[in-house]
Amino acid sequence: MYINKDVVIIGAGPAGLAAAVELVRNGIKDIIVIDREPFAGGILNQCIHDGFGVIKFKEVLTGPEYAQRYIDEANKLGIEIMTSSMVISMSGDKEITVLNSEGLATYKAKAVILAMGCRERTRGALGIPGTRPAGIFTAGVAQNLVNLKNIMIGKRVVILGSGDIGLIMARRLTLEGVKVIAVVEKMPYSNGLARNITQCLEDYDIPLLLSHTVINIEGKERLKSVTIARVDEKGEAIKGTSRKFDCDTLILSVGLIPENELSLGAGIDLDGVTQGAIVDENLQTSIEGVFACGNVLQVHDLVDHVSNEAEKAARSVICHLRSKCGQQGKIAVKAGLGIRYVIPHTVSGEKDVTFSMRVDRPWADRKLYFKSCGKIIKSIRYRRMNPSEMVVVNIKASELEGAHGLEVFVDED
Ligand SMILES: Cc1cc2nc3c(=O)[nH]c(=O)nc-3n(C[C@H](O)[C@H](O)[C@H](O)COP(=O)(O)OP(=O)(O)OC[C@H]3O[C@@H](n4cnc5c(N)ncnc54)[C@H](O)[C@@H]3O)c2cc1C
Repeated sequence: MYINKDVVIIGAGPAGLAAAVELVRNGIKDIIVIDREPFAGGILNQCIHDGFGVIKFKEVLTGPEYAQRYIDEANKLGIEIMTSSMVISMSGDKEITVLNSEGLATYKAKAVILAMGCRERTRGALGIPGTRPAGIFTAGVAQNLVNLKNIMIGKRVVILGSGDIGLIMARRLTLEGVKVIAVVEKMPYSNGLARNITQCLEDYDIPLLLSHTVINIEGKERLKSVTIARVDEKGEAIKGTSRKFDCDTLILSVGLIPENELSLGAGIDLDGVTQGAIVDENLQTSIEGVFACGNVLQVHDLVDHVSNEAEKAARSVICHLRSKCGQQGKIAVKAGLGIRYVIPHTVSGEKDVTFSMRVDRPWADRKLYFKSCGKIIKSIRYRRMNPSEMVVVNIKASELEGAHGLEVFVDED
């Protein structure tokens, strides 16, 4: 038996919640939001630091406070949020199978919004040599244990990876009385937001060792030490530069991967760089009526961008349900020099488009160009662009007029 719904949203994090609120505010009421966790709010529930909502609410909120704004709104609008319920499969014709304590149920949706967030890369993905003792955590797991379960994870910690989660955990653990020996980063620059380098490391005198990596782990039952070394431009450890740190805990903050197993099962085409879905300007995936937003589409730096993207996905769903959406865009968008990826992957040239992208290295005082048919259609100068920060650019339909292929790149000079 199917339960028919206009829209099924998978994931009740900020993306899923913002999409649901936008749908209902615009008259689409036959919707359900499904989440495997017992509470809505997604990853924000464990982000008890502040820094959320600066763009959206012009306020500095903690993660739970930001999430609560949307949960309250969803409750006010009577949105059905089904928690403790795991979506175990989705078919190409939008059948969604859910498992919870009541058993299995299948939903049949006219449209689906994928908002499943992302997961962390682990030690296995890095292949660090050494023993397999206790005391090695991913940053998100450490954050969950410390912030939600009140469990202390160690006394002397080394953090590998200087993404925002690693930086935030360095400060968090310091405030809890832990000695954070160093944050070790393989790249010659940090992968975290500049404000987090200042507020989480410099303010607490925690060293950031750039161009370094962990080359060995020692310890039988519990971690005893890690050895780090400087790396060359190819990322290879340089002989004679190794240093051993006595510590009982290693935290890995080495990247996030969009959670797209359901998408793969449904046959949705994924982008090899973002590992999120390939989408058009409506954030529609390769399956008609299935849309993606939030971290499951691309790893976001700010939750405010997540909410905006989710609202856009919801507006596209409304169009789709009312058959006013039009064709998938046919103009391919290419990431050129200095750009790691650009979303959306295709545009129609008939609508205003919000492009989001990441650069592949830090750039200072450079122009970002949009070029089509050999002609520059837009250029913007940035004081700096960093791989850790998403670049978001709005382009008007009039600027895309007559475009065939579209390339986005950074100038070399
Ligand atoms: C440690 C950390 C610090 C951050 N700091 C900041 C900051 O200071 N400021 C800021 O603006 N942003 C920050 N961010 C970024 C921001 O929090 C995220 O980009 C945003 O929360 C992502 O939202 P989302 O809804 O896409 O994903 P999530 O919040 O991950 O939500 C996804 C939801 O989908 C559910 N789900 C997944 N698969 C299934 C399934 N099969 N069945 C049912 N449910 C499923 C999950 O349970 C989860 O609840 C931070 C992120 C982290 C991790």
